[in-house]
Amino acid sequence: MLDTDAFRRWMAAAAAAVEREAGHLTELDAAIGDADHGANLRRGFTAVAAELEKGAADSPGAVLTLAGRQLISTVGGASGPLYGTLLRRTGKALGDAGEVGPGQLAEALGAGVAAVGQLGGAKVGDKTMLDALEPAVAALARAADGPGAYAAAAEAAARGAAETVPMRARKGRASYLGERSEGHQDPGATSAALLLAALAEAAG
Ligand code: ADP
Ligand code: MG
Ligand code: MG
Repeated sequence: MLDTDAFRRWMAAAAAAVEREAGHLTELDAAIGDADHGANLRRGFTAVAAELEKGAADSPGAVLTLAGRQLISTVGGASGPLYGTLLRRTGKALGDAGEVGPGQLAEALGAGVAAVGQLGGAKVGDKTMLDALEPAVAALARAADGPGAYAAAAEAAARGAAETVPMRARKGRASYLGERSEGHQDPGATSAALLLAALAEAAG
């Protein structure tokens, strides 16, 4: 079971991963977007970490809701409202539970991912963050009763991100490139895999 501290560690690990990988994320976005994905998420997660360090948020759901709010208010690009919605909706679905297991988190993340789909109008296969998020949630739900559920989710997210390489983008800036978006890994799917790896790290 993951408690409030584990969720704080998740967001701190995500901030550290984004800091470490910002250059790579921006490089990926330079190929099929406007070269700001690393900077966008770095700004957002720095704000999340700073806000959480103040000690606010006293439940797993509150940690994610606060993080989502920070992302929405500090990130200008498409990824801010989308990740913000993911975390806020997931946090809301967790309610005021003090501890959360893999099955409950899979269900809450499922609601968050559905909200991202609703906000951005994208589906699996459109070469977006959803191509990493959806398989991760499915893997977490499948593995929920066994050991290594979070690691399985992280692996599924990484695989989903890699599978965006041959896809043609149908949403977001990359879609303006049409077939020229093929052959590049989607930046948002890549950062989504970082987010899931951070969860596995915090849970482990
Ligand atoms: P911007 O495109 O505004 O510069 P970012 O570079 O921060 O924003 O984020 C780009 C990423 O956002 C893309 O790689 C993609 O994964 C994701 N994205 C863009 N539009 C959508 C959408 N409609 N639905 C889901 N994800 C999207
Ligand atoms: Mg961009
Ligand atoms: Mg931009």
